Formats: sequence, C-alpha cells, structure tokens
Amino acid sequence: MSDAEEKNRDFIREIIANDLASGKHQSVITRFPPEPNGYLHIGHAKSICLNFGIAQELRSVGAKCHLRFDDTNPSKEEVEYVESIREDVRWLGFEWDALHFASDYFEFYYQCAIALIEKGLAYVDEQTQEQMRETRGNINVPGTPSPWRDRPMAENLDLFARMRAGEFPDGSLVLRAKIDLASPNMNLRDPVLYRIMRAHHHNTGDAWCLYPMYDYAHPLEDAIEHITHSLCTLEFENHRPLYDWVIEHCPVPAKPRQIEFARLNLTYTVMSKRKLLLLVKEGHVSGWDDPRLPTISGMRRRGYPAEAIRNFCQHIGITKFNGTTSVDLLEFEIRAFLNREAPRRMAVLEPLKVILENVAADERISASVMEHPERPEWGARALSHGRELWIEQSDFLEDPPKKFYRLGPGRHVRLRGGDIMKCLSFEKDEAGQITELRCELLKGTAGANAPEGVECRAAIHWVDAATACDAEMRLYDRLFRVEAPDAEEEGFLSCLNPDSLSVITAKVEASAAALAPGTFCQFERTGYFIADSKDHQAGTKPVFNRTVGLKDSWSKQASKG
Ligand code: ATP
Ligand code: MG
Repeated sequence: MSDAEEKNRDFIREIIANDLASGKHQSVITRFPPEPNGYLHIGHAKSICLNFGIAQELRSVGAKCHLRFDDTNPSKEEVEYVESIREDVRWLGFEWDALHFASDYFEFYYQCAIALIEKGLAYVDEQTQEQMRETRGNINVPGTPSPWRDRPMAENLDLFARMRAGEFPDGSLVLRAKIDLASPNMNLRDPVLYRIMRAHHHNTGDAWCLYPMYDYAHPLEDAIEHITHSLCTLEFENHRPLYDWVIEHCPVPAKPRQIEFARLNLTYTVMSKRKLLLLVKEGHVSGWDDPRLPTISGMRRRGYPAEAIRNFCQHIGITKFNGTTSVDLLEFEIRAFLNREAPRRMAVLEPLKVILENVAADERISASVMEHPERPEWGARALSHGRELWIEQSDFLEDPPKKFYRLGPGRHVRLRGGDIMKCLSFEKDEAGQITELRCELLKGTAGANAPEGVECRAAIHWVDAATACDAEMRLYDRLFRVEAPDAEEEGFLSCLNPDSLSVITAKVEASAAALAPGTFCQFERTGYFIADSKDHQAGTKPVFNRTVGLKDSWSKQASKG
C-alpha cells in the first residue's frame, strides 16, 4: 500500500486492516442492505461505495460484498423497488458477489426465537402497545415488568407456535426479549422481537403472519451470511448493544461486528425515502427518476456520470461526525468529470437571428471546431453556415459598455471556429426587443488573426439557421429554495422552488440533435447537457436535460442576496 493510500484510509478500513493483520479474519464480507421501500438516493451511494469499495480493494484476500434486500416488513415493500435497486447498484459500477433476501431467512429467525425462549430469554407478552409504552419507564425510572414476563417456558413455546399458526389477531400478542428493564439504553428494556401482522409479502406470500422486528432480524441476517463487518449509519449506535445481545444468545454460525459511520446529508436536498415518496406521490416531481431528485435514477437521468458520483463519495470520506455536505461539492465533481469527458457542441438557448449581408443565399462558408480542446485525439468537426445564423441574444448589446467584448453596433466578434463578423445594423420590435442583426462576414479570417485595424476580442457560439434543429431544453434549478429543507418549520414542502424546472426551445446543431439518448455533451459556453433517456428521439425530436451549468452561478447569486 502506498503512503497516500495509507493516509486516505478511514477508520473503518483501518479496523478491517487490523482484523486481517491480527488474523481475526482471513477474509472480509460486507453487505449493502437496502429496504425495498423506495428508490436509492445519493446517501445510499455513499454506503454502496463503502461496502462494495472495501470488497473490491481486498479482492486479493477474497473479500466479498453481498446485496441483501432487507425485506422483513411487508407493509411498505414492492417488487418495483427491488428491480430499481439492482439496476442502480449496477449502474453505479458494482456487482454483488451474492444476492439475498432477508425474507429467505424467516425460518431461521423463528428457530432462533425458539432458542431464546428455551434459554428463558424471550417471552410472549399480552400487553397492548400502549401499556408497553407506559411501563417502559424513562432514563431515571426503570421499566415495570409485564405480568407475563415470567410466563413458564412451555407456555411461551406453545403460544409462540400458535402465533405463527395464525390463532391470534394482529397486534394481540408479541414476543419480547427478556433483557434488562433498568438499562439506561431503552433499546435493551425488553424490546419486541416479533409481532403478528397479516400482510402479503412480495417474496413469501401469505406463508407468515408473524414478522420479526428490524433490530432482531438484522444481526441474524448478517450472521447467517457470515458478514464480518456490518457497516451502518450512526443512528444505529444505540442499537449496537441489542445487536450484540442477539448475536451472543442466538445459535448463529458467525459473529459479525457492527460499525457505524455518519450518514450523508446534502444542502438543498431531502434524503429520507419517506419524503422522496411524498414528493413523487403528490406529483411535485414527475417520478422517482425526476432529474431534480437526489435519487440515483434521477441523477442518472439528469446526466450525472456514475464515475463522478463515485469520486464524490470517495472525496467526502467516511467519518463519525454528522454534518451536512454542500451540494456544490457534488456539482464540482460532476463538472470536473464532464469537463474532461464530454464532447462539445453548440446550441443557442435564446436565439437572435443574424443575417450576413455579404453571403449569398446559396453560399456555404466553412468553419472547424475542435471536438474537445484538451482532447486533440478526438479531432475537429467540420461545420458550415449560410447567410443566416442564430446567436445568443445576450451576445449583443445595443449600447455596450467598454468591457463588453461581444457584439454591438459597428463592433466585431468571432464566430467560434469561423470567421470574424461585424455588426452593421439591428432591428427592434415595438416592445424594444432586438429581433434581428445585419452583419458583414470578414471572409477568410477563420483561424487567422484579426486584420489590421479590426478589434476582435471574443468568440461566440452560433448555430447555422438552415440546418439547425429545434430542441426542447429542460433547465433545472434546485428543488428547494433553502439550504436545510428538513429544518423548515412549515415542513419541507413549504420551501419547494417554484422555478425548479423551466422548459425552453433552443436551436441546436444537427449533429447534437442526432446524439443517442443518454449521451452527454457540453453546449459551449452554456452548460453540460444529456440527451434525455426517455423522451429524446435522435434527429426528429431532440430533448436535452441540463445537467449542471459550466460555473457555480448559484453561490454567486445567493451571496448577492
Ligand atoms: P432513509 O432514511 O432514506 O429512508 P434508510 O436508512 O431507511 O434510508 P435503507 O434502505 O434501510 O434506507 O438503507 C440501506 C443502507 O443504506 C443502510 O445501511 C443505511 O445505513 C444506508 N444509508 C441510508 N441512507 C444513508 C445516507 N444518507 N448516508 C449513508 N448511508 C445511508
Ligand atoms: Mg429504513
């Protein structure tokens, strides 16, 4: 391992390296355990990169990572989510060494519960939820034992079997662990292990009416899969004593260790699946893959490359401190990647017509633009234009200030990759809007310096009017107006940004309109875009999503107030 790698090693990789060095483990198995009750988001990407990343780095000792659907709660889970999760993990660039469903182990959890009952460590309680809450006590007051806490073992076994057999109504009985009613850790005050719930399960159908609680099932899932290091987020730190208790007292084939790390939070973003579901269900966004959502499928559709997301996860690192990461950092990684990898094209978002007076109606003028200035191997693109062009309205000012180097009456500007042109006159409509420029082309100046006496200090992008295609451009802004939508008193829905999507029609070069769906490109001087994977039809109906602007215009705008 190099010094740099050694230095970049986070505390979890450190623990694992020590476990291998000491011989505690010969190899390592991690897992990514999503509950299939929603689509994955960028927070999950952090966990995926950690778990699958560790397995990749330790291939030499045969390390593995499992994808496990934590589907023990049938009420919120759906097959659609299972499929999207597989697709998203693969798209992020990872492949699981094994695929499991926690629901495949229902019989195992059940047998472990019987073992606990036989050891006098679990009992069937008849108290209502309300009563259990009332008798749990608080930090200063120990819990009051349930009247059923010392039920004889044989009676517990009998009742538990009949719970499984469906003899009791939903919610009437629970199985509880018998741990410590005076524990300062409330999770240890006889937690519920099983509840009765008649719900159809996507995997096991109606075979069970008895479902295990997360805190009981999760350690058993890890153990049966021989997970060595079970990595989860900090909110489970308080649950670790229960995790260890289950592992210690159940007949398990391995002893996994739970380690917690800080979850990812992002500014201007909500991350909880419950909130994302609400945004989707209430129609605030177009679906789980709406490009404004922080879901993996939304980011994919927005044009965020998987590699850039992985780079982001690597750079934020793994710590024990809960904080909020600026979404600017994510956008920085997206730009850094696309700046290197995206081919370049030209598009005009707010078109202004230019008529070149000294170009004949049937004349073609050639130009040539490098596909990518830093990738000479990609070559140059031959372009051409006729008498009419589109340029950006903002590249002309009727009365330009001195520092404005683009077009104004009598001024010169270079057409990117082509000749210099001079603005002769302009036309306005009744509202004062500039409608058309009349220019003169300085033929033969492409690729050459400006002639003597001509001041030309800028190049602008343009699109040939005769061959341009109309393209739908979806311009995205932040979904929320405030940095911490979760902290809004009126709720996170109260600070939705009404202008988070604007749709315009732009003029694009024919070669951009012809890109395949899902291809990204930079529209020069405008931003990074991707041909929409669902709605774009190459050549006939171009639709582009703006992935991110070229520069961080938001923070400038925000600091101006
Ligand atoms: P949410 O709170 O968004 O509903 P969750 O934790 O309930 O997410 P799970 O499907 O249970 O979602 O999560 C699968 C794995 O992803 C867990 O190991 C969880 O700790 C991890 N994870 C979820 N959210 C984040 C996050 N924001 N940052 C890092 N890891 C996360
Ligand atoms: Mg959850």
